[in-house]
Amino acid sequence: MSELSKREKIFLTLSRKQTGYIPVIPSATSFAITNSPYGAECRKDSQKFAEAMVSARRYFGYDALWAGLFQGVTSCMGQGLEDKNGKISQSGDGTIQKPEDLKKLRPFNIEKCVQLHFIKENIRLLKQEEPEEPIIAIMDNPSMVASALMDGGNYYYHLVHNPAFVHELTEMVFEPLTLCAQEIIAAGADILWLPLPTIGGTCISRQHYQEFCMPYNKRFNQKIIQAGGKLIIHTCGNWNDRFDLVTTEGAHCLHIAEADLGMLKKTYGNTTALMSQIPSVFTMMLADPKQVFAQSLADCLAAAEGGGFILSPDCGMPGKTPAENIKAMVAAAKEAERILAGKC
Ligand SMILES: [Zn+2]
Repeated sequence: MSELSKREKIFLTLSRKQTGYIPVIPSATSFAITNSPYGAECRKDSQKFAEAMVSARRYFGYDALWAGLFQGVTSCMGQGLEDKNGKISQSGDGTIQKPEDLKKLRPFNIEKCVQLHFIKENIRLLKQEEPEEPIIAIMDNPSMVASALMDGGNYYYHLVHNPAFVHELTEMVFEPLTLCAQEIIAAGADILWLPLPTIGGTCISRQHYQEFCMPYNKRFNQKIIQAGGKLIIHTCGNWNDRFDLVTTEGAHCLHIAEADLGMLKKTYGNTTALMSQIPSVFTMMLADPKQVFAQSLADCLAAAEGGGFILSPDCGMPGKTPAENIKAMVAAAKEAERILAGKC
């Protein structure tokens, strides 16, 4: 199947089809920035950002380009308000402490959303530089934005003490986020990758997840797919008590951590593609290349047969991950392709 382009191979993988190719996609935004001579300047300059993403991808030989993290709804709606420490907020985090604060939220104006313009410009430059590579944009979903505006601890408190408050805020950010997701996809992002650390089993109960997150997740995911985007949900932390729920929410792929990969493949492999879970810190950053190779190969052999599998570390790849460890991960995918003889 060598006639398939890289984009086609990755799209087919997300549709759980066999291509003979195992994509290797580390979540590498911070990694690429850390390894760029421009460093933090990349976060404000699209040209430098795109250069960092492209050169890291080429040098280390992994797949796909990251367009950056979009948190513009939180900042546009909460910016300028007082946060929980009494400081005027830039990010919008922690600005909604009590129900009365909802009235202070700024109406979302898409034209004035600086972060949206930045990520769209990143996408334009990335597409220009490497049209063959799929582009992945990172963004928060409605529950993640509500919890950021309320501040995590306060969000958790109100799940118990004032459900209506949490629902009202989640609903208020829903439409602005949908507009932004549609704009980001229209600008050329192929895949949206939604990291959900705050609402996993490490943080909230299954019952709260069902009541406060799932209905919004399903609606939001549907909007993304209707807009033509591919969707990867990053189940950050321990989600073992709710994979049966999140696999019904419409995502093409789950990027997992702390899970039994083989079991997930058996149980959900017919409905959801899987992106794997090489420990980012203890293996990618701290182990030697042999260990990275062994763990990567084990992940591939647990879940790549039949297609629908992407090899990846379990969370953001640390900036100080050694080059030879990344090369070992990429080499393991090649070795697994050989062992599986095209059945991946
Ligand atoms: Zn994570």
